[in-house]
Amino acid sequence: MYTITVAKSAGFCFGVDRAVKMTYEALDNYKSVATLGPIIHNKNVVDDLTKRGARIVDSVSELEDGECAVIRSHGVSRTVYDELSKYKNPYVDATCPFVAKIHRIVEENTKNGNFVLIAGDKNHPEVAAIVGHCEDNCLVFEDDVILKKFFKKNYENLRKRLAIVAQTTYNILVWDKCMDVLPKDDPNIIVYDTICHATQVRQSDADELSRKSDLMIIVGGRHSSNTVKLFDVCKKNCRSYHIETSDELYTLDLGNARKIGITAGASTPAHIIKEVEITMAEIMDNFEEDINFEEALDQSFKKIHTGEKVKGIVAALNNTEAIVDVGTKHTGYIPLSELTDDPTKKPADVVSVGDEIDLIVTKINDQEGIVTLYKKKVDEQKGFEEIIKAKEEETVLEGTVQNVVKGGVIVAYAGVRVFIPASQSGLPRNAEMDVLLKTKVRFVILEVTENRRRAVGSIKAVQKAEKDAAKEKFWETAEVGATFKGEVKSLTSYGAFVDLGGIDGMVHISELSWKRIKHPSEVVKVGDFVEVYIKELDKDNNRISLGYKKTEDNPWEKFKANYNVGDVIPVKVVSITPFGAFAQIIDGVDGLIHISQLADKRVENVKDIVSIGDEVQVKIIDIDIENKRISISMRALLENEESEASVEDAE
Ligand code: SF4
Repeated sequence: MYTITVAKSAGFCFGVDRAVKMTYEALDNYKSVATLGPIIHNKNVVDDLTKRGARIVDSVSELEDGECAVIRSHGVSRTVYDELSKYKNPYVDATCPFVAKIHRIVEENTKNGNFVLIAGDKNHPEVAAIVGHCEDNCLVFEDDVILKKFFKKNYENLRKRLAIVAQTTYNILVWDKCMDVLPKDDPNIIVYDTICHATQVRQSDADELSRKSDLMIIVGGRHSSNTVKLFDVCKKNCRSYHIETSDELYTLDLGNARKIGITAGASTPAHIIKEVEITMAEIMDNFEEDINFEEALDQSFKKIHTGEKVKGIVAALNNTEAIVDVGTKHTGYIPLSELTDDPTKKPADVVSVGDEIDLIVTKINDQEGIVTLYKKKVDEQKGFEEIIKAKEEETVLEGTVQNVVKGGVIVAYAGVRVFIPASQSGLPRNAEMDVLLKTKVRFVILEVTENRRRAVGSIKAVQKAEKDAAKEKFWETAEVGATFKGEVKSLTSYGAFVDLGGIDGMVHISELSWKRIKHPSEVVKVGDFVEVYIKELDKDNNRISLGYKKTEDNPWEKFKANYNVGDVIPVKVVSITPFGAFAQIIDGVDGLIHISQLADKRVENVKDIVSIGDEVQVKIIDIDIENKRISISMRALLENEESEASVEDAE
């Protein structure tokens, strides 16, 4: 609700009221009346007097014979009185008694040889009239600055006493400053405070009212000095307008004014002030209706506050921001930096028109109807809530390693930075953390510091848990004969250790090859992926023996399938013993040429017949698969040759 307060002292002062009344009386008493200048600075009053027959003249010389002159409240100079006497025109002296008093002061001081300083506007009729009572023995100064200059220039050589008076409507604040400029305790300076009490009261009332108001309306003539001064006083305290009539109120920007003050210059009639008050009330009533409408409209919208979580629907996108509807009268903006950290991405890469997003209000500009919104904070908050929940529920999370920092790495998860210490990275001690950079890792949360929004995680714990789970599953399902593809993790002199997926088994050296080998590295190397099968399980001691050799690769099987007694085959001597020579039939199967089977004569020393590396033809004479013994003979072939020769000879 608005208030309109009219200053108690607004409007006609005693002097103006007196002058207007005296003019109306003159109109009653004289045939013709002319005022020496407008009786007051108020068009309405002047128009009314004119209608009643009062002329306005600028000088005595314009008066008609016998025409009554009205001297207005500002007063006139001594010469005007002389002229009126000279032309024998009757006159009504409506000079305000307070102004007339100044005339007496300056006349007396001039007579005493004192110099007169007049504070005021030299162009104002009142000041011009005062000057006209000083016989040019005076100086008009506008303010304290001019007065200071006067003293600086003249004080040392001043031979006269000084009398200082003020225009009755002089600004009391400027007058106080002028008093500060005066040399202290100089008996040759006589100060007459001639500012009209009515003016003082009106100005201090206006000052007080304008301090309590949002808006001041100062009513009075454009050229009314005291009205202008009231305006100067008020405008220091609040939005103020100087108007002449109520019609001007419609053109003013009243802003959001709710407390309105009205004052008026000394020459403003009461009925004009009343008219302004009524018009102002009408305007405010209409304004109030508008405000009520706006408030009702506002209330139809949701209220919004800084720091509040809101949901926004993406309404439009440009290259630097997303524009969202947050269900209030404001337009919401999400800067690109709040949508993504990726400098190559645009808002359209992150959100689409129509998407509903959780946001936080960071800045509200009601005047411009804009709210700035943050998304990352919501994401971070949500992410942190997920982190807390993940810790409670020991959930495995997946994130990307963003940075390598002192003592570990930082993993980004849902807008939250999770620290993984080097000891929890799953890498060997003293390993370079850089290998994890930009990789996706699985981790669990070990610690959360809610008030500092910090979280510590472990990749190693996930790896260990996964390994344990794999082991458990393995022992639950493992059975002899089951085949696996595993990685060779290490080699020893007695075998190779193979990772079966979280659990290691060993292939004994004898199981690596059908041949006799000296070291597992002859067959496999670390890092090889090999197919193995479970030969034996020792669940009590968690030991697994693996087989690697395959039946189809068993050279004895190959031999059995392809060779028979009586076959003549090439062999290669691989070793020599006192009782014969061993020769390789196929890879992995050797046969023995007994010393008695080396030749068709008695052999004393095997080496007399064959040497290691010799390739010879033999005949298979016996096969004992069970004991892996094969007897081969060179002699059998020689005997065949002899018998074939005997047959030929006989023929
Ligand atoms: S303002 Fe004071 S001095 Fe001037 S006319 Fe009114 S009463 Fe007289």
